[in-house]
Amino acid sequence: MLTISHLKKRFGQRTILEDIDLTVHQGDVITLIGPSGSGKTTFLRIITTLEQADGGHIQFAGIDKDFADLTKRDIQTIRRNVGFVFQNYNLFNNKTVLQNVTEGLIVAQKRSKAAAKAIAVSALAKVGLADFQDYYPSQLSGGQAQRVGIARAIALNPKVIFFDEPTSALDPELVTDVLQVMRQLAAEGMTMVVITHQMSFARDVSNQVIFMADGHVIEKGQPSQLFTTPKVSRTKQFLAEIL
Ligand code: ATP
Repeated sequence: MLTISHLKKRFGQRTILEDIDLTVHQGDVITLIGPSGSGKTTFLRIITTLEQADGGHIQFAGIDKDFADLTKRDIQTIRRNVGFVFQNYNLFNNKTVLQNVTEGLIVAQKRSKAAAKAIAVSALAKVGLADFQDYYPSQLSGGQAQRVGIARAIALNPKVIFFDEPTSALDPELVTDVLQVMRQLAAEGMTMVVITHQMSFARDVSNQVIFMADGHVIEKGQPSQLFTTPKVSRTKQFLAEIL
């Protein structure tokens, strides 16, 4: 349902991503792992059109084009079909939890306020925050704020949700709740691409792990293979440091 091929990105003279391919099938949970600065965030930001590519091709939601040829309408189509969960939640601090979730439904999807509210309430219930509709982000723990971020993404019913290190800003005791919500989404068949340092999540939940370093995909495989018998020495070295 989503194919990226030969993706390239430079910032100034520096090559950040070189010849990156990704194939996502419906129901996949793909984790992206790798050292800081390897280009994981930039990769997700390009797929979701938050950043421009310098080369490569995308097939998604009826689009089959080089990134350079994407029109404004294509970009809108891509944005309408993806969800993004940010490391630092990116909630509107002056809006309530409910308003944070209804905003995209009303503005981007042109739903009525009543319809948006019904969808948002059900999304908030799904992440265990049914009783927090009227709270403001400043009144939430980091784990709750991130679960609002997830509710906001699922409310829009995207084809795929991208997560950029969703638990890395959280105190350790708050990580479990967020991972539990993500595990539940995965079990329900949500298609997800997740940058994570949580190796247990990658091992238990994903069906494919992609190891990136220095702007390249070094190795990809099923977690049972990649974590136990990595083929490339760079992967072995990374796993030895992190596990
Ligand atoms: P982390 O785990 O630390 O988030 P990452 O693997 O997600 O790392 P990126 O954030 O994609 O890596 O960054 C890849 C490289 O691109 C880094 O060297 C970073 O400094 C550089 N970079 C990212 N955004 C920009 C930008 N807007 N301008 C210039 N360089 C950038």
